[in-house]
Formats: sequence, C-alpha cells, structure tokens
Amino acid sequence: ISAADRRWAWTEVDLNAIRHNVASIRQRIESGVRIMAVVKADAYGHGAVRVAKTALNSGADYLGVATVDEAIQLREGLVNAPILVLSQPPAASIPLLLAYKVMPSVYTPDFAIQYAETADSFGLRAPYHLAVNTGMNRIGVRHDEVVEFMGQVSFHRALDLVGTFTHFATADSAETLDFQIQAKRFIEAVTALRAAGFDPGIVHASNTAAAIRYPDVHFDMVRLGIGMYGLQPSSVTRPLVDLRPAMSVHARITDVRTVPMSEGVSYGMNYRSPGSVKICTVPVGYADGLRRGLSGRTDVILKGQRCRQVGSICMDQCMFEVDLRVYGTRRRLDPQIGDEVLLVGRDGDAMITLDDMASALGTINYELAIGFSHRMPRLYV
Ligand code: PLP
Repeated sequence: ISAADRRWAWTEVDLNAIRHNVASIRQRIESGVRIMAVVKADAYGHGAVRVAKTALNSGADYLGVATVDEAIQLREGLVNAPILVLSQPPAASIPLLLAYKVMPSVYTPDFAIQYAETADSFGLRAPYHLAVNTGMNRIGVRHDEVVEFMGQVSFHRALDLVGTFTHFATADSAETLDFQIQAKRFIEAVTALRAAGFDPGIVHASNTAAAIRYPDVHFDMVRLGIGMYGLQPSSVTRPLVDLRPAMSVHARITDVRTVPMSEGVSYGMNYRSPGSVKICTVPVGYADGLRRGLSGRTDVILKGQRCRQVGSICMDQCMFEVDLRVYGTRRRLDPQIGDEVLLVGRDGDAMITLDDMASALGTINYELAIGFSHRMPRLYV
C-alpha cells in the first residue's frame, strides 16, 4: 500500500519539469558557465536527493545547501557532486565537513584557521568559498576588506580558496540601482584579490533572477534555486523565460454532505452556506502547508472545475463547496468520497498556482513551496 493510499493527500514533483527548467535557463547562460543547483530546504520542498540527481543529470555540476545536515543527507543519498554550504556553519561541524567532503562558506578568520588546523591534523586540505558582503548585509567579508581577510588567513597551508561569491538582494526588482552597486563592488573585490596575488577560484553571484536578467554577472557559475522548480523569482522575469512548475498538490475527498442554507462550516463558522451546497472535505490542513491565512481565499479543482475552499482551514483538513446552483446547469459535478482534487496544479483550463496563494497571503512563492514539504507523501512523476 502506497503512502498516498494511506494518506489521501500528497504532492507530486514532475522531474521532467525540473529538466525543462534547467535547460530553459541554460539557454540564457553562456556555455562554460557552471550551474549550482540550490537544493536547500529539501530542495524548496521538492525533495533534495531526487532533485539533486535530476539537476546533476540535466547540466548542473555543483550543489548548494543551507546547513551541514542538508549536505550530509545528500551524501547519504549517494550524491557525489561538490557541495557548498551557503553560509558559515558552527565550528563544531568542521569534522563533519571534512568527513563528508562538504565545503563551507567562510567569512571569519577564526573559523578559517580552525578549519585549516583541523584539516591539517588529518592530513587533509580545507577547501572553501569566500563569502563577500556587497550590500545585502547578511553574511560575508565586506567587499573592500577581502584582501585584508586573505592576508590574515592565507598563511595556513591547508586552506584552499575554491570559490568567491556574493548574493544579490534585489536581482528580481524592477529598480536596478542597488543591484548595479552590488555588482560593481563584487567585481572590484574579485579584481583586488587577483591584484594581491590571490586566485579567487570559481567566481559566482547570480541567483535565478540574475541568471535570467543579467548576463554580465554570470562569471564562472550561477546558482539556480526557484527557477529550477519552475517558479518565477518575481513578475519581472516572467516574460523572459518559460518555466514549468514542478510541484502539484493533490488530495482525495474524505467526506461529502449536503448542507442546508445558512449552516456554518468549520471552526468559527465564518462561512455560512448560501443555499443548497455540497460541502466536501479533503485531508489537507495547515500542518501540511496549506496556510490558514488562505481560508476562503483559495480554490480547489474537481474534475477540471474550480470550487471555492470555504470555512477556516483546520490543522489536518479543509472543506470546499460545490454549489449546485452553479454547477447544476454547466456540468454535473457529483462529488464522491475518493474523488481526486487538486489544490495546486493544472487540470485542463483550470489552474491554481503557488503564485496565486502567495499573492493572497502577501508573501512569496518560495515560502509556499517550502511549506508543502513537511507531512504529505511525495510522489515523483
Ligand atoms: N544563492 C544563495 C546564497 C541563496 O541564499 C539562494 C536562495 O535564496 C540562492 C542562491 C538561490 O536563489 P533563487 O532561489 O532566487 O534562485
């Protein structure tokens, strides 16, 4: 019995969509520029090991994660590609970095020296990427202090500067001035490193939005996250590249009832039935990532028809309405227990996207995708 049979709610990840998206973005990148597949947060809710393997087979050659545990999960899933942790992990994780051949991002001399000394004591090298802060002010050595930083740490023979990178705060914004300032500072930092005799290694800066919009900052590698999953970083990139969403969210109806006029549905009874409606229940709630703030503000698709989600979304279940007055004349929708519905995805002309949900909530599609990762079984198609 499959996970989706035990639990009538599941997500599907279309690995062909991921292949298509990598190829589609690849067309906008010069050959010779490498691709890092960013698979942090369980590949934005799509499953790190499967996505990593798919991306590596579709032209990516590097992987990016947020934590050492995420990197170890990839290694235990038999992924051999180079892995970069996109921040500087706690020094206590240094033995794990070395044991699993995972590279940290580095920006403090203390960490660099401790990493080098531990590696040296095992007779190993200490490969790392230097994180440069060019204006986002999140992590990194200040752009005008990189040479000084290297002067402090480079005496250590085990340290091996494999790459140098920064991260853009506004690559997806219509306004481009802040982006231009960051790009200029980064180029100056890399130039200064070279002038001081330090080889910066693989130079990288672009996330999906910059990879799509700004060929001048592709350097040696681009880091693809959101676009690989078929989601647009923002409306600015939408006209530039064809992306296919990889994730869809499915459920089966677990209860159907006819509710008389003006009865309430769900906690708080904020919804009252307007007349003769069928109320259907599906076993997906906010514990699965269907955010409670979407209550009454999203739809589900049943047999190609949009139906309104109604009442408060509960922790594990939610309800939707089949309004017989609407559907009775158009097409007979006769919901039955066990019928499949879509909460995110496309069926014929009907489509519900993570972008729709994000805009209803005033957030970004990244947050919605990651939210669907926790409890539902995931099927790869
Ligand atoms: N690089 C770094 C350092 C990141 O933190 C992220 C994700 O936020 C990415 C690349 C990928 O960005 P995106 O998902 O917008 O492509």
